[in-house]
Amino acid sequence: MSVQADILAEIKAYETIIIHRHQRPDPDAIGSQVGLAELLRASFPEKKVYQVGGPAEGLDYLAQMQEIPDSTYQGALVIVTDTANAPRISDDRFHLGDKLIKIDHHPNEEPYGDFMWVQDQASSCSEIIADFWQLFPEELHMTKNAARLLYAGIVGDTGRFLYPSSSSHTLRMAADLIDFEFDYSGLNRQIEQISSNVARLSGYVYQNLEMDESGAARVTFSTEMLKEFGVSDAQTSGVVPLPGAIEGVLAWAIFVQQPEGYYRVRMRSKGPAINEIAKRYHGGGHALASGANASDLAEAQKLYEELQKVCSDFTA
Ligand code: AMP
Repeated sequence: MSVQADILAEIKAYETIIIHRHQRPDPDAIGSQVGLAELLRASFPEKKVYQVGGPAEGLDYLAQMQEIPDSTYQGALVIVTDTANAPRISDDRFHLGDKLIKIDHHPNEEPYGDFMWVQDQASSCSEIIADFWQLFPEELHMTKNAARLLYAGIVGDTGRFLYPSSSSHTLRMAADLIDFEFDYSGLNRQIEQISSNVARLSGYVYQNLEMDESGAARVTFSTEMLKEFGVSDAQTSGVVPLPGAIEGVLAWAIFVQQPEGYYRVRMRSKGPAINEIAKRYHGGGHALASGANASDLAEAQKLYEELQKVCSDFTA
């Protein structure tokens, strides 16, 4: 039996299914998690299906999370979407269930769970959940809301089909989802929408981005600066793609100081793989989109020098 058939068999066998995703969720985390929850609710109305992990700042337009007591985990099946490693799972009660399934599209560096469906070539975890539906069309019923959520996840993780992870299969899947007639244009706009404070921070990024001849670029936000701009850590996601539009920029890092003093590093690339650097700085991720942490400005400098090196060595 394929792992997909195993997963479907497990879903059928359990009365209670609890779905988790990663901390600091993005549209793909919520889209894959709640998209799967909605798919299962429509397909198995007799089952109890929960989506948990605490509120998702700025993503309320996609879905709301549920609160459940520890006792709900007794004898339950737990599925985690879009989360490479167990410490990043939002709500660490994921291990209280009877069985654990991982469904993800990040490199499988830290396997966990009784069953794993990991496809790191997929554009997004939402695309994998949509594949699940298309593999078992007789048993899994897509709904308008599930389609909306999965589409949002695909759009979020592909930068609206900009990144090379968008395959012809991704585009066909997006088309199949759009057939469910949700307002995809309005949804695209909601995903792209930024507050006026983030718009001002965008100006700061364009004006203060440090670029060099290797194609590396960086900008740093201190906690005081973010306070002045009125932008939260989560809202910085709105400015992360911006340097990619600039001619000559190959890979970039945005250093976001945290209240504890260390820097969360949001790294992106248009060519050179950056996830090996991220791994060396307490992080990880995809070849072209990774996250890391630097304890202070000196460590941030070291990370940036490694970024410059991969850019200099890169030949398209
Ligand atoms: P972000 O810049 O936070 O949007 O992160 C981009 C990608 O990097 C995410 O999709 C994750 O795959 C990965 N990532 C971010 N932070 C970490 C971390 N601390 N550990 C492992 N992977 C991370």
